[in-house]
Amino acid sequence: MHESKKREIRINADTLRSKCTVGKYGLTDLFKDCEKLQYKLLRYPLGENANLGFTVRKDNDIVIFTNSSVRLSREIFTLAHELGHAVLHMGYNSSFIDNVATISGKSDDEKEQEANYFAACLLMPYSDVDRFLDYEVNGARDKGLSAMDVARIMSEFNVSFDMALNRLANLCFINQNQKLNLSTERTEKKVGNLLQSVGGNARLNIPGNEIKIPHEYIDYVIYNYNHNAIPRETLEIALEYCHLTVEDINDKLIDNNVEENDDLDELIGGLDI
Ligand SMILES: [Zn+2]
Repeated sequence: MHESKKREIRINADTLRSKCTVGKYGLTDLFKDCEKLQYKLLRYPLGENANLGFTVRKDNDIVIFTNSSVRLSREIFTLAHELGHAVLHMGYNSSFIDNVATISGKSDDEKEQEANYFAACLLMPYSDVDRFLDYEVNGARDKGLSAMDVARIMSEFNVSFDMALNRLANLCFINQNQKLNLSTERTEKKVGNLLQSVGGNARLNIPGNEIKIPHEYIDYVIYNYNHNAIPRETLEIALEYCHLTVEDINDKLIDNNVEENDDLDELIGGLDI
């Protein structure tokens, strides 16, 4: 990615960040910010092996979905990545579906790399990380960082241990050798224990399994069920969340016997994009 493009992304991420709720250093609740910013947010535990998120345009709305079956820190990163697509790429009027490859930076697609860079800048901007290390980690510059320090960074910036390590290395706060040592220390001590020992947010390391489906989207769910994109079980759970049963919406269901298919691509197909 060209430096000029990176600069443009940093400016965009910073603009969005200024509209978010920031704690002493890190964002406090990006999900709430997302709604405040008028994006239509959906969260659903689709399963660990399903896609991680998507961003689509639906009429005048931008709909963002995140899979809440993964660790919360990872879901937050997915959301930041999707916001990157929403801010940088929705002018193209296209949709983005993200999986492990696109979110972890293994895809060489330019827009995916841009969305990842946006997410990193949004969650851990250079100036705030620098300030955190200066104020909160005594001797960070001379003695380097311990895995407990990284756990503190995790907790403050609401990111995963890996994300914190990658970002610290990319911003040159640690070198590759230190990164490797910290990664080994993490494996030995386990992230959950590290978080506990620094009084950090243990929720980051476990799946949120949140279900958040705005009322208006129940129509999408019904549409997708009617087109065999989601199984009946998902329909029932989604309805339950909106305090409805299948009987309540029975007149909207089309009888069909085609094999069930819970492919997320089909779900997207139902969004009329
Ligand atoms: Zn993406």
